[in-house]
Amino acid sequence: MDSEYFKSVLMERRQAIELIRKTGDEAAGVVELDQTRVGRLSRMDAMQSQAMSREAQRRRELELARIDQALQKIERGEFGICVSCDEEISIERLKLDPSNPFCIHCAK
Ligand SMILES: [Zn+2]
Repeated sequence: MDSEYFKSVLMERRQAIELIRKTGDEAAGVVELDQTRVGRLSRMDAMQSQAMSREAQRRRELELARIDQALQKIERGEFGICVSCDEEISIERLKLDPSNPFCIHCAK
């Protein structure tokens, strides 16, 4: 198990998300629901895009949490072990997503 390799992949992914998070937060802040300035339809558009950016934000937070968990597992020397059944997660699975906490049998 090359945990140093996975560690660098996870750190890179983490930085990328942090960057998107910064710019994404600014974009979400731009959407103001000003009824006098914009029409009813564009107001609905604005609400929809706001909901979408909130959903994207929620997914990013979840992924960040998974990445942090994976990094902690690397520190403890438990990386690649399924959190549910303690079996090893296949290397192919980890290459696809190093933050994956579950083996193929425990994945939903
Ligand atoms: Zn498992």
